[in-house]
Amino acid sequence: MTEFAIEVPPVVALPIAGMDARFPVRRVYCIGRNYAAHAVEMGHDPDREPPFFFQKNPDNLDPSGQFPYPPHSSDVHHEAEIAVMLKSGGTNISPDRALDHVFGYALSLDMTRRDLQGAQKKMGRPWEIGKAFERSAPVGPIHTVASVGHPDSGSITLKVNGELRQEGDLNQMIWKVPEMIAYLSEYFELAPGDVILSGTPSGVGPVERGDRMDLAVEGLGAMTVSVV
Ligand code: MN
Repeated sequence: MTEFAIEVPPVVALPIAGMDARFPVRRVYCIGRNYAAHAVEMGHDPDREPPFFFQKNPDNLDPSGQFPYPPHSSDVHHEAEIAVMLKSGGTNISPDRALDHVFGYALSLDMTRRDLQGAQKKMGRPWEIGKAFERSAPVGPIHTVASVGHPDSGSITLKVNGELRQEGDLNQMIWKVPEMIAYLSEYFELAPGDVILSGTPSGVGPVERGDRMDLAVEGLGAMTVSVV
């Protein structure tokens, strides 16, 4: 048995709807600009160019329903997304086999320090400081493929304090879930516990402490996250 020289960090373990067992997280990949209307609102061309990804940290995923407003930003944005949880992986996965690797799906938010991300973009620097901060990815319970199948269409909405801010349809994704898995597997070795955040529709915008965010996706239920 391995002895550890320091305290062993906890495994990030997410709740699964209808199961006592939890889902252990290995890596978190996030796709950028995956809905045309969001690409346009961020000042980019909506044409299908190769996808690009950034990463968050496993322990950025937070099922608590609370989002602590992070330091060093005055422009923290919500991005409503669905997360794809993998039960297996590999390299060079073909798109037509990609969904075999999916364990389930969950509602998620890719919270973003937009001011810091914008400054990094201008300087051509990496985005972590804007994206991969503490508890930056609120996540709902995971719905297994056995219970919800593979949702590839249906409305995705985000309300802030009851007011509709984001509205789209999962069928508007430029890169579909099987394509994202296939593409990532050409560049990385995917494995059980990997999570992919699949991009956000248009309507991203700022939140403040005290706000209530309500995310709903057809077929995946709803979740409420409070900004504290
Ligand atoms: Mn995003």
